[in-house]
Amino acid sequence: MANLLKSIRGMHDVLPEDSPRWQAFEAKVRRLMASYTYSEIRTPIVESTDLFCRSIGEVTDIVEKEMYTFEDRNGDRLTLRPEGTASCVRAGIQHGILHNQIRRLWYMGPMFRHERPQKGRYRQFHQLGVEAFGIADADIDAELIIMSARLWRDLGLKDLHLELNTLGSTESRKNYRAVLVDYLEAHREQLDEDSLRRINKNPLRVLDSKNPGMEALIANAPSLHDYLDEESVEHFERLKVYLDGAGIAYTINARLVRGLDYYCKTVFEWITDSLGAQGTVCAGGRYDGLVEQLGGKASPAAGFAIGMERLLSLMDETGVSAQEEPVDVYIIPQASTDIERTLNLAEAVREALPELKVQMHCGGGSIKSQMKKADKSGAELALLVNDDEPERVVIKYLREAKSQQLVDQAAIINFLNKNN
Ligand code: ATP
Ligand code: MG
Repeated sequence: MANLLKSIRGMHDVLPEDSPRWQAFEAKVRRLMASYTYSEIRTPIVESTDLFCRSIGEVTDIVEKEMYTFEDRNGDRLTLRPEGTASCVRAGIQHGILHNQIRRLWYMGPMFRHERPQKGRYRQFHQLGVEAFGIADADIDAELIIMSARLWRDLGLKDLHLELNTLGSTESRKNYRAVLVDYLEAHREQLDEDSLRRINKNPLRVLDSKNPGMEALIANAPSLHDYLDEESVEHFERLKVYLDGAGIAYTINARLVRGLDYYCKTVFEWITDSLGAQGTVCAGGRYDGLVEQLGGKASPAAGFAIGMERLLSLMDETGVSAQEEPVDVYIIPQASTDIERTLNLAEAVREALPELKVQMHCGGGSIKSQMKKADKSGAELALLVNDDEPERVVIKYLREAKSQQLVDQAAIINFLNKNN
């Protein structure tokens, strides 16, 4: 027998039983984005490898070991996008829509990272990304965080907490970097292989290490906060005032540096304790230098991304669920000679009453099996079409103890409307 074909490890199907949860979440997101006047942008899933190397940073987990990179038939180096911000900035520059203007954008879709699959960590996963361009002040940082907090409220999620930090300006990071490198050099023997490699190329990322063996070393490292420039401190103070005013609680985590190179000033994560090790469901921050770094005219920017699988499993854990609505009307042609008439009747009902969910029985079968399927569909009503009644339709009540009725086909819309 041929080998059973399976989906790629770490890449999952969303089955029909599961898609209502996704749809309910996506519908909430669309409403939320509209109410905050953010517009959707859709970019290709494949981009040139260069885009991610130049934005995310050469010495990051993503670029060093997680990207799905390949050569296409022309020999071009392409990559399945591991995240959305780089594509968003690339598109914004290419189409001149970031230049000297404010843009509030969002996107939703699959991202790809070759990580070790486990609960909450997949090789194809989905992100909702939100980005705001052209605003340097901390008010937009606050808006983004307040918006994410509203989403948790809309979804009925309670046990998420916000961790906040500032990375300072590029300048102050440079000063801190020198101090950190000295500290790390002095403790070389405690560093793991990844960190040794990063000492000179990207020392801040050592602080982001998830290796428990390095916890103490990281905890005792000099603090970035002692090296911040005045403007970054002010920016951070303003953000805290806005969040306090909005009643949003947070904890300051000076070790929060995020895994991508392009962040500056504000960084934040929303974390839950309910999902084990993969507890960060939303992460973001400011990236004022990225637009210029990718060849555009400098524009301040900030954004966040939500890991949709993690958020959906948190909704499961906390009992927030969504189910597909059942069929309303099940329409049955009782014999093959009735099919044409039934197809047309079903169309007429859908045309006149688009809010109804109308399922036609296809594939024939005995009356008994037809009625069984009608019952299983969850429909309230079955409409039976047959030759004996060329002008009328038999109505059967599937959930109520009412006897069946004959209704003129011409009056069926009216009848369903009243029953609806
Ligand atoms: P982590 O520290 O968990 O690896 P990250 O810092 O790599 O996360 P980001 O690149 O900031 O994550 O992505 C934003 C969000 O996307 C994460 O907070 C998480 O919710 C989700 N995410 C990231 N990688 C994965 C993955 N492999 N599978 C599922 N969700 C993911
Ligand atoms: Mg990661």
